[in-house]
Amino acid sequence: MIIGTKMHTCRKCHSNELRKNGINACGNQQYHCKTCGAYGVLEPQVCYTEEAKDLIIKAYQERSSMRGIERSHGICRQTLRAWLKGKNALFLQMHHYA
Ligand SMILES: [Zn+2]
Repeated sequence: MIIGTKMHTCRKCHSNELRKNGINACGNQQYHCKTCGAYGVLEPQVCYTEEAKDLIIKAYQERSSMRGIERSHGICRQTLRAWLKGKNALFLQMHHYA
C-alpha cells in the first residue's frame, strides 16, 4: 500500500483541519471537518467505465460469487448490486423478446 502525503480538504469550506472518521461500507475514508463540522468521504468513489462495468458483471455472472468479484475487482457490494439491478432488467427484457 502506498501512503501518500496528499492533502485532503473539506468539500464545503476547503479547510484542511480534518479528522479521520472511520471507513464506510465501501472502504472509503471518511472525515469530519474541524472547521465547519461537515462529515464526508475523503476520496470520491471510484468511477468505472462502461467497459469495466460490463467486464465485472460478466465475471459475476460466470462465477456467481459476489464475494469473489468484490475481492478481485475491489468493488463495493452495493455498487455491484445496483449495476446488476439495472443489467438484469435489460437481460430479462432481452430474453422475453428472444
Ligand atoms: Zn469544512
